[in-house]
Amino acid sequence: MKFIEKVRDSRSNEAVELELPTLAILGLVDRDDAATSEFLVSLKKSINVLPALALSLAIGVGLITFIEYQAGLWSRIADVGALTALAILALVMFAGLKSKIAFKMSPARRVNALFLLSIIVGGALGYCLASGLTSAERIPDGINAIILAIMLVSLVANGALPILQLGLLIGFSACFFLSGSLSASAAFGAFALSGLVPILVSRVMTDRAEIKRAAQERVESSKTSALITMFEESDRIWFWETDRNGRLTYASPKLLASFNKPKEQLLGTPLTDLIESGDDQQGASAKGDRTITFYLSNRLGFSDFPVRAAIAGSDQWWSMTGRPIIDSLGQFRGFRGNGSDFTEKRRSEAEINRLARSDSLTGLPNRSLMIQTLEQSLANAKVNPVSCALMLLDLDRFKIVNDTLGHPVGDGLLKLVAKRLEKVVGSAGRVGRLGGDEFTVVLPVAPAKTDIADIGAAIIHQLSQPYMVDGSNIVIGASIGIAIGPNDGDTADSIMRSADLALYVAKADGRGIQKFFDPSMRFEAEERRTIEADLRSALNKGDFSLVYQPVVCSTSERIVGCEALMRWMHPTRGPISPAVFIPIAEEVGLIQKIGDWALREACLEAAKWPAHVSIAVNVSPVQFSDPTFPSSVMNALAQSQLEPGRLELEITETVFLNEGEDTDAMLSNLKSIGVRLALDDFGTGYSALGYLRKAPFDKIKIDRSFVAGATVPGNRNAAIIKSVVSLAESLGMDTTAEGAETMDELELIRSLGCSHIQGYIFSKPLSAAEIEYELGGIDNIVQVNGFQHSRAARISMLRTANLKHGGYSVPVRIRNVSTTGVQIEISNPIPVGTSVSLDIGLRTELLCTAQWAAGGRMGLSFNGPIDVTLLTAQKPTRSEAA
Ligand code: C2E
Ligand code: MG
Ligand code: MG
Repeated sequence: MKFIEKVRDSRSNEAVELELPTLAILGLVDRDDAATSEFLVSLKKSINVLPALALSLAIGVGLITFIEYQAGLWSRIADVGALTALAILALVMFAGLKSKIAFKMSPARRVNALFLLSIIVGGALGYCLASGLTSAERIPDGINAIILAIMLVSLVANGALPILQLGLLIGFSACFFLSGSLSASAAFGAFALSGLVPILVSRVMTDRAEIKRAAQERVESSKTSALITMFEESDRIWFWETDRNGRLTYASPKLLASFNKPKEQLLGTPLTDLIESGDDQQGASAKGDRTITFYLSNRLGFSDFPVRAAIAGSDQWWSMTGRPIIDSLGQFRGFRGNGSDFTEKRRSEAEINRLARSDSLTGLPNRSLMIQTLEQSLANAKVNPVSCALMLLDLDRFKIVNDTLGHPVGDGLLKLVAKRLEKVVGSAGRVGRLGGDEFTVVLPVAPAKTDIADIGAAIIHQLSQPYMVDGSNIVIGASIGIAIGPNDGDTADSIMRSADLALYVAKADGRGIQKFFDPSMRFEAEERRTIEADLRSALNKGDFSLVYQPVVCSTSERIVGCEALMRWMHPTRGPISPAVFIPIAEEVGLIQKIGDWALREACLEAAKWPAHVSIAVNVSPVQFSDPTFPSSVMNALAQSQLEPGRLELEITETVFLNEGEDTDAMLSNLKSIGVRLALDDFGTGYSALGYLRKAPFDKIKIDRSFVAGATVPGNRNAAIIKSVVSLAESLGMDTTAEGAETMDELELIRSLGCSHIQGYIFSKPLSAAEIEYELGGIDNIVQVNGFQHSRAARISMLRTANLKHGGYSVPVRIRNVSTTGVQIEISNPIPVGTSVSLDIGLRTELLCTAQWAAGGRMGLSFNGPIDVTLLTAQKPTRSEAA
């Protein structure tokens, strides 16, 4: 007999016919399924009642024996024997099922053994019951047997397989019919059947459902396994399974192939032997520093766990996922899971990680890595008695290079800067790029302040050497702000802010220098920020004006031109020097607008002057790099109706940082408009003479720093001026010496052959009305007005410094400096005659004596003469207007 069942595949919804084997349903063939093991487990529990059963039998036997002894019925001893046999059987079953031998038997064998036992038990019962029911003397037998039967039936029914009930029924009925009267047999048979048959039927039904479910699962799993095979063949993923002891019981061919070992050898190996131990698994840190062994030994599921394969000589990484296998009885039976090769992904993740921590252009550590380095250094500095240093670097004039030569050249330049920086810093610290032209150096263990200053000076020196990028010769500079942790900041954020302020001051003080952080800088930075904000609204509010400084012909002493110089009257701060606000306007992108305004205003003013007087207008390199600049010039000329030849554009050497085609094109564009071109501040910056040959300049303006001090005996400035003049003459250019203040300077300049002179000796910059008045004269000859001899030439500047005396350090502001002394602004003047030292950002401090004090200013004399060019060599500030 066969059961045929129709089942439906839940995925495909197809109907499948299933043959359910009868023997399997009856539990007669090996059925290592959940139902069987469930039975055995519950039987094992139920078996514990067997001692009680044995006790009840012993009592029963004792009772019967006593009654029969009283009655002298020795012949019925067989009944006693039968009951005793039952008791023994129950105990044997108990011992048997608890024994090790039973546990070694397959579940099906155990079922078969129990089947035989059931028949015997059933038979004994039948016999006892039949004889008890047919003879009045045997009533105790009968009662005893009924108790026994109920207990056994309930025991077996509790977790039995149908086959056991069947066995019980067979044995019972057989003996009952053989030994009892027919009518009583029939009555009891009906009674027994009515009790047992429903149980049997319900058991068969449950089993049938279970077998059907298992069969259906097999149908479905055959498709699943086809898919799994497909997966396994694709080599992308592999599967594994372990037993409860963690030994491999299954491995996909791909996994087997990785180890190049026969299947038999690999199966049975502990899974943990196939992967590297925890310490080697850097990937484990992603999972809270737990290793896969932790999950396996704690029978916890894990997913996408990175592990390194224990394959000698290969760096293979797997991503493993596993789930504990728990059977229907809640028992742990092992692990099952999948894995995939993670090597490539891990490599690219490592690469991504590396890229995320380094700057893609220069390959230097990026901001986040530098912040981390800083944090580590600070943490170390807090624990150990050491300090760390942070240098923030900003490249001077980089923006101009980038704007004028293009980003590819800018990028090339940054790469070279990175290389030079690394070379200078070496093993003393770590170099990183924060972005744009901002670099940083962290010295985890800071040396003495003077040594840090040495490193800073070396960096500035190296970065200021010319670069060759894509055929362009480029010169830039660098400014550095330095903060020392944990003094200037004990968190990465605060030390960064301090170094940033120091950098701010370094840039404001003329660039090309380094500054150590000082708490007073906070106030100054605040000031600069407000200036920036105010600058934006100044043009609309009409706070800018132009003043005009005469340029005089050195032989005739007639005014032949004027330089337009911008002035900003701040509503609350009063006049602010162009040396201060022009660089800020360049930085914040306002210079084009302001410069355009100055150009138009100056042309309109010059149009009112006599025709032989020209007007010179300063042009910022940022304006110069703007392709629309020539049209701005033409507009200004058109609007004012000024003759183009009367307009002179003053350009600084900075524009030749990029000797590219754009510069040449701009110069010739401007030239074609008909304006004159003057090279301003000659000698202060780039000073590569090569460009002079091809650039169509009409004039060279020799910077004031050469004129000042030229008359001091032994100074070589005069020789320099002389050679510039002869160079200009040979190229057909005029020369203007800027900043002549004294008679002897005037004499010297004249004798050196400069064609024009501009300086306070003739006139300070004048307002529009004043210059109109001045030019309204008949011959425009100006009177000289100055000292006969130059005192030690004073150079005006706005620069912060620290005055140190009596253990105190006071922030002061330098107004001007000469070889012999310095004038400072100080809020609390110190007594005249006090010896002090002045820290002006040089490596050594200057020893001075206070000479005078008046109105918040003081004069200090240096204890020995200093070389002022040290302060001006990098052109720290442009001269401040008088
Ligand atoms: P600059 O073009 O070299 O202008 C000459 C500077 O030297 C002016 O300073 C002028 O007042 C000053 N000066 C002239 N003769 C003497 C002298 O005998 N002694 C002293 N101590 N100083 C003298 P100012 O007006 O403060 O301008 C500073 C710089 O600001 C200028 O240097 C120029 O580069 C820039 N600047 C001024 N106006 C403008 C402008 O409209 N546009 C642009 N882009 N820059 C401007
Ligand atoms: Mg100028
Ligand atoms: Mg100048």
